[in-house]
Formats: sequence, C-alpha cells, structure tokens
Amino acid sequence: MGAGSAGLLLAALLQRQGHRVSLLERAPRVRTDGCGILLVKSGVEAVAAAELPGLLERVLAAGVPVSRFVVRNLRGDLIESSPAAREPGELPSLLVPRRAILEALAAQLEPGVLVGDAELLSWRQEAPPAAAPAASCEPAKEGPVQLVLADGGRWQGDLLVGADGLFSKVAPLLDPRRHLNYLGDRVWRGVVRDGTFCRDGEFFVYARGRGVYANVFDLGLDAAGQPLTHWGLFQEEPLPADRQEQRRLLGEAVPEAALAKLPADLAALMRATPPQDVVANWSFDIDPLPHLVDGRVALVGDAAHAMSSSQARGMTAGLEDAVSLARHLASGADPGAALAAYEAERLPVVHGYQQRSRSVSERTGRRRPPQVQKA
Ligand SMILES: Cc1cc2nc3c(=O)[nH]c(=O)nc-3n(C[C@H](O)[C@H](O)[C@H](O)COP(=O)(O)OP(=O)(O)OC[C@H]3O[C@@H](n4cnc5c(N)ncnc54)[C@H](O)[C@@H]3O)c2cc1C
Repeated sequence: MGAGSAGLLLAALLQRQGHRVSLLERAPRVRTDGCGILLVKSGVEAVAAAELPGLLERVLAAGVPVSRFVVRNLRGDLIESSPAAREPGELPSLLVPRRAILEALAAQLEPGVLVGDAELLSWRQEAPPAAAPAASCEPAKEGPVQLVLADGGRWQGDLLVGADGLFSKVAPLLDPRRHLNYLGDRVWRGVVRDGTFCRDGEFFVYARGRGVYANVFDLGLDAAGQPLTHWGLFQEEPLPADRQEQRRLLGEAVPEAALAKLPADLAALMRATPPQDVVANWSFDIDPLPHLVDGRVALVGDAAHAMSSSQARGMTAGLEDAVSLARHLASGADPGAALAAYEAERLPVVHGYQQRSRSVSERTGRRRPPQVQKA
C-alpha cells in the first residue's frame, strides 16, 4: 500500500522473487513531485544491495555526490566548511531529485503491478483457517488480509505492507498509539534552474535564527543538461487546529517576511523558483513504534518511522526496510518467521535513526515547544 520510494522498491523486489504483487496507490500514478533529496551513503548502498538491473547506475547518473557541507549564519557569514570525506571505492552520499529516484524505481515494475486511484480506507486480518494447529495460547493472525478501498473496492492478500507514508492508514490500525508529533515548522522546498549558488555537490546550511532555517544544495544537471539547485525553508509557526486552514496555508508562497530574514542572494533564488516547482508541508515525526509487524501486516518507510529531516535519513531508512523485508521473505523461512526476523533486524536500527533525528531537531530546532493553535 503506497507507491513512494519504499513501496516501489519493495514491490520491485517481491515481483522479482515471483510473488504476485499489487502496489496500490491513492494517486492516479506514482507521485514524482517534490524536490531534492540527500540520499546518504547507506541509502545508496541499499539501492546497490537491491541488485535490480540498471537501478544503481540510473540513480547515480541522476545525482551528484556531496562534496562539501557549508554552514552559514543568516547574514551569510561562513561558520564552518567541511569536505564530505569518502574512501576510494566507497559509494557516495548523493544529492538527487526525488523525481529521478521514483522514476527509476517505477521503471522496474512489470505492467499491471501498480494500481492507481486505489485509496485504502481500512483493513482487517482474518483469523487463521479452523484446521490450522493452535501452536500457542496467542491467537495466530495468519489468515488473509482484507482491504476496503475508498471506491468501495475490496482486495484480499496473504501479506499487507503499509508503505503509505506519514499519514498512513495501515499503521494506526496496527498500533493505535501511533500519533503525529508536530515539530514546529511550516516547510517549503523548491527546485530552481541555477548553477551558480551551489556548485559541484555543495550543501549549504543557514543556521536557525529569528524563527527560520534554510538549506540549499546542488542537484546536478537535469535531462536537458540544465543545472538544478534545491532549497528548503523552515519557518516556525503554530499548527492551525483546523485542517482546511492547514491545507490553505500549504498553498501559500513563502511569505515575504520570511524571505526578508535571509541573505539577499538566497531570497532571490527562492523568488526565482516557479510556483509549480515548490512543495510545502508541516513538519511531523512519530514516536518509535514497538512493532513493525502484526500477523501478516508489516510496515516500511515513513508509515513505520516518520522522522524529522534533521539527519536526512527518511528515504534511506525506507529503502533499507524494503531490502531487508524482501531478503527475509526470500530466505525460505515460514512467512511468520521471516516477518519476525525483519522486525528484529530493523526495529533497533530505525529507533536509533528516530531518536537521533529528534534529538538533533530539538537541539538545532526551534527553542520553544511547538504549539497547536486553538480553533
Ligand atoms: C522537509 C523534508 C525534507 C526531507 N529531506 C530528506 C532528505 O534529504 N533525505 C532523505 O532521505 N529523506 C528526506 N525526507 C524524508 C523522505 O522524503 C521520506 O522519508 C520518504 O519520502 C518517505 O517515503 P515513503 O515511501 O515511506 O512514503 P511516501 O513517499 O510518503 O509515499 C507514501 C505513498 O503512499 C500513498 N498513500 C498514502 N495514503 C494512502 C492510502 N490511504 N491509500 C493508498 N495510498 C496511500 C501516497 O500517495 C504516497 O504515494 C525529507 C522529508 C521532509 C518533510
């Protein structure tokens, strides 16, 4: 469920293993909108470990290795500049358009695997067939999983994987305690044709001050050979309680008051970005979940461990999940044992990512706890 980076990679891997896979997606097709991604080395290694034909080469060709991290203050003064060290033969951390990653993954799917316009409303797990031996006192949940879609459609399968992102419909039914924590920022991200602001894999951070934080990085060349640059702007503000108001605010351009706090060249770069190349969202993470698996339902990606972007681990973690889950399902073990092994492998890793991301976000993030506006 969900054709983001985690769902696409997992579907491609399971399809190659010979499983009958349906990748159900709410949108009519894979949503390639978005921006730039820093895919850290372990994310690029996960792409390599997938061993899907041509995938690694395509992703590497679409991005540019990080060469240098530069920290400035909001006046534009240099605070720190450090090269991104890499051993010979090591895969790089990559600055790459999200669109390129998703298109490369989607190209791996066989026709018919992706089912668009399929929005999940709810799911439930059947009890095992009556003839199944009772192995323990715990009720086994090994029957098929039934899905109900928004258009009234019903699906049934042996395994449901929730790869449906931050606002997952799969995860809360698996763990009702899962809830979103607002981290305190409205965030805009854009991609603009520019080859002068950042060059050759540079990644600039503008340290947080006066209620804003920004980053900018080189995205290499697009298919037409034009240089691209990604930027992100985080503005501290309360989250409106009203959902409609939240949505309305995400349709707004970056406020001039926020741009006025930035160095003039950075503000000019943001103003020069076509509105259709800007995306906005509210920043959330979730607390570490106690489980990634329940019976024949498993979680991968943001559905399992949405985290702040402070460590740039989100997409990487989902790609690692997909490779791990596919490897365990291919091991020949009973599916229940394979899912348990997946959870045992991934839970400590993703909890570590979540804890580090949140603590860096709290250390370098807004000073006061975020508030939710009263309706
Ligand atoms: C500001 C910001 C900056 C970031 N920067 C980085 C970075 O530099 N590096 C990095 O690694 N990560 C970064 N991330 C995180 C990264 O973008 C996510 O972790 C990653 O995209 C999650 O992938 P996913 O496949 O789990 O979920 P998603 O990409 O969210 O995909 C979920 C899919 O499920 C579909 N879906 C949702 N609900 C339903 C439903 N009910 N029925 C059917 N389909 C449904 C959605 O339409 C979507 O296609 C950043 C995130 C933010 C917010």
